[in-house]
Formats: sequence, C-alpha cells, structure tokens
Amino acid sequence: MPEPCGRTFDEALLSGHLDGALVQGDEQRVRVHLEDCGTCRTLVEELAEVREATMSSTFNIPGDHEWSEAPRTEASRLIRGLGWPLVIAWAILVGGYAIWQGWLESENLVEQLILVGGVSGFAMLFLGVLLDRLKAMKTNPYREVRK
Ligand SMILES: [Zn+2]
Repeated sequence: MPEPCGRTFDEALLSGHLDGALVQGDEQRVRVHLEDCGTCRTLVEELAEVREATMSSTFNIPGDHEWSEAPRTEASRLIRGLGWPLVIAWAILVGGYAIWQGWLESENLVEQLILVGGVSGFAMLFLGVLLDRLKAMKTNPYREVRK
C-alpha cells in the first residue's frame, strides 16, 4: 500500500527514529521527510505518546517491595504492633520453660550448662534479629514514603 504522503520508507523507521536506533543514512532520510510531512510528524508524536504510556504503565507495576512485610493499613500496623510483644513474650516463656524443665531433668552441672547456654544462645540470636527488624521497620524512611 503506497503511503499517502509519499514516504519511501517503512513505518518501522519512524519508531526507530524515536528510539534513536537508526543508522545515519536512515536517520537522515527520516529527518528530511519529517521536515516537510505533517502526517508523519503526527504519526511520530502518536508513537511517542504510546511509548510514554507503555513506559509509565511499566513503571506502575509494583516492585518486589510492594509485597514486602511493611504494614499496608493502620489496622495491620496496629495488629502487628500487638503481635511483636506477644511473639517476644511467647519466646521468653517457651525459652524459660525449656530451661526450667531441662534444669529439673538434667543429672549434672555439665548438662545444665549445655542446656542453659544453648537455649539462651538461641534466645539472644532470636532477639537480635527481632530488634534489627523492628529498627528497620521504624527507621526505614523508604517504606514510609512508599505507603
Ligand atoms: Zn510522511
């Protein structure tokens, strides 16, 4: 189908021109034609708009962080605020209970030391991770902006 404007090249070159992806000869050809063809200038503008829309919709796709554990709503923030102390209390209780039970059942000092050392070691690791996490939740400004 002949182009109504007398364009001698394929429309693909126009989109190539938009991308700045043409070799020098083609780019020259497109530019010369665009200078005196309003139809193709309009076409290029339309292509540019479509491209822009595509680009921005691409950017609107939520990134991984959107599915991160940052609270979405005030309600979830509140529930989580209540949840952490419960988790901590639970960990302390379970750890304490384990130590207490093990202490009663262990036969000698070595067993007791191994038990207390192991459980309190785990408890400290757990609390350390927990504190880091809480701190990250409170101080990470990026999360706040993202909300
Ligand atoms: Zn044209």
